[in-house]
Amino acid sequence: AMTTSPILYESLPGGVARIVLNRPDTRNAQDTAFLYALNEEFDRAALDDTVKVIVLSANGPHFSSGHDLREVDGHGNMTKHETVGTWGGFGKPGAEAQYAREQEIYLGFCERWRNIPKPPRALVHGKVMIGGLMLMWPCDLIVCSEDAEFLDHSVAMGVGGAEFFAHPWEMGVRKAKEFLFTADWIKATEAHRLGMVNHVVPRAELESFGLAMAERIAQKPLFALKLVKQAINAAQDAQGRVGAMQTSFALHHLAHAHNMLAHGKLVDPTGLMPAIKKHEKET
Ligand code: ZN
Repeated sequence: AMTTSPILYESLPGGVARIVLNRPDTRNAQDTAFLYALNEEFDRAALDDTVKVIVLSANGPHFSSGHDLREVDGHGNMTKHETVGTWGGFGKPGAEAQYAREQEIYLGFCERWRNIPKPPRALVHGKVMIGGLMLMWPCDLIVCSEDAEFLDHSVAMGVGGAEFFAHPWEMGVRKAKEFLFTADWIKATEAHRLGMVNHVVPRAELESFGLAMAERIAQKPLFALKLVKQAINAAQDAQGRVGAMQTSFALHHLAHAHNMLAHGKLVDPTGLMPAIKKHEKET
């Protein structure tokens, strides 16, 4: 079953747990089952007292292509899982079910992972698109390989940014605007210059470099790691991160509701098609 599970979990020596995205055939596209499985493994690592550092990496040519827009019954699939939030209403008509679903599996999960007291770190390679950013940004440290590239073409699809709207903090206000307005790819060196990733290394060294750093962190007292993480997160939240994200999430759902009224779809199909074609041509 390990080979077919969308998420793999491995305990490494020295207090390191490794979680691996494992839907390579879809470029690690995130459907409901994938995200619940990932959340479960983050919980497992967080609650295991022998684990001090969590490493998140991906199988296949790309880290993640984002949300799986081909999922047939996303709302129906919500009822197959034990929810972690208290929003409910996954079967409601109108905009309510979509709002509830995204509160739970997008904004809700990302916020939970961002606040895991143990330091999760992401090892990123290949392409990372829109929702894929929402898997790496909640991690405390990000190491990427030289081939890594990042894209958010949500504006082209008629919505403003992914549901976990960390863009202004991850790349700065001015660059975040360019990134979203143009939907241009950002390369690994540019991501490093912006402070969005900690290190860029050759692809062949991504794992050894990432795991060696995880082992160095795991030698520190776990409680002190938890406390300093909380302190740094508190500094970021004191800048208004939580309130700003609530606002952007609400605006994101205004756009979903608008697109349903105007196009009968959550996203603007005229913007979606060129973006997908562009991606397929480049991958
Ligand atoms: Zn959405």
